[in-house]
Amino acid sequence: MANSKYEYVRSFEQHDILLSNTWIVVRIDGRGFSKLTAKYKFTKPNDERALNLMNAAAEAVMKELPDLVLAYGNSDEFSFVFHKDCVLFERRASKLTTTIVSTFTSYYTFLWPTYFPATQLTPPLPSFDGRAVCYPSDQNLRDYISWRQVDCHINNLYNTAFWTLVQQGGMEARAAERELSGTVSSDKNEILFSRFQINYNNEPEIFRKGSVLYRDFFPMEAQSSPPPQSTREPPVLSHPQPRRALTRPMSQPLERTIPGLLEDSPA
Ligand code: ATP
Ligand code: ATP
Ligand code: MG
Ligand code: MG
Ligand code: MG
Ligand code: MG
Repeated sequence: MANSKYEYVRSFEQHDILLSNTWIVVRIDGRGFSKLTAKYKFTKPNDERALNLMNAAAEAVMKELPDLVLAYGNSDEFSFVFHKDCVLFERRASKLTTTIVSTFTSYYTFLWPTYFPATQLTPPLPSFDGRAVCYPSDQNLRDYISWRQVDCHINNLYNTAFWTLVQQGGMEARAAERELSGTVSSDKNEILFSRFQINYNNEPEIFRKGSVLYRDFFPMEAQSSPPPQSTREPPVLSHPQPRRALTRPMSQPLERTIPGLLEDSPA
């Protein structure tokens, strides 16, 4: 009702328009997934079906939101990157975040039966929280992704050592925890190698590094003649014509590989 006597309540709304010309990252994280993974008996430390489900839900989100250029995920989290010149929802943080969270959650539950055909979801159903943060420079964005990937690496090394001690070493959880307290990365690598003949570096990359989805800006050119040198740069960080690319129909919308963006990240 425009101009009604109630209209004034709109002035109570908080402005949350994000700074122009900055990368917007929306990170979502599963709520209480420590419990959820136990409830549905996820394989520990890494249930590949669950990772593939996270990736499939993220891919669906990227297909529904063409302003997204990149997504990085591991464990129960995913970070979605909107292009610097994104104007979706006037860059309002709450609208961007809630749309991503609800779209992701819908697809996570919708696709669940594909990845867990033998296990029906029951309440409490999976849910995710989300937040939006602006990163002004390309280096800041790169460091953000590296930060999440370091987190993946540290957690995965710990979890791999912990669950190997429990599953193959027959240790109680408490004892395994004590064994690992105060250890650094090289100690955990050594425990895995000397006691269990596991070379951590041979663990699957999806466990050690996480997953990246990115929008392929030039699928047509790639098939015919090679693009000029500058367009071969990682699209998200140095794309020369983002607007054109974002509206272009895509033959292969999303790639599921790790582009150069993450090459000099740890492990
Ligand atoms: P919060 O609501 O605060 O996020 P949480 O229990 O979800 O609580 P996280 O720090 O997000 O806490 O941890 C996620 C948990 O889910 C970790 O224990 C992680 O090992 C587990 N997990 C996530 N994905 C998988 C997977 N694919 N396979 C096995 N375990 C997983
Ligand atoms: P936006 O994404 O900006 O919210 P929108 O299309 O959802 O776009 P709204 O202003 O939220 O726009 O309007 C919701 C639309 O859905 C209206 O056209 C409304 O009539 C229709 N709608 C919602 N609920 C019902 C319903 N139960 N039955 C029929 N139509 C409905
Ligand atoms: Mg959380
Ligand atoms: Mg969580
Ligand atoms: Mg988490
Ligand atoms: Mg609506």
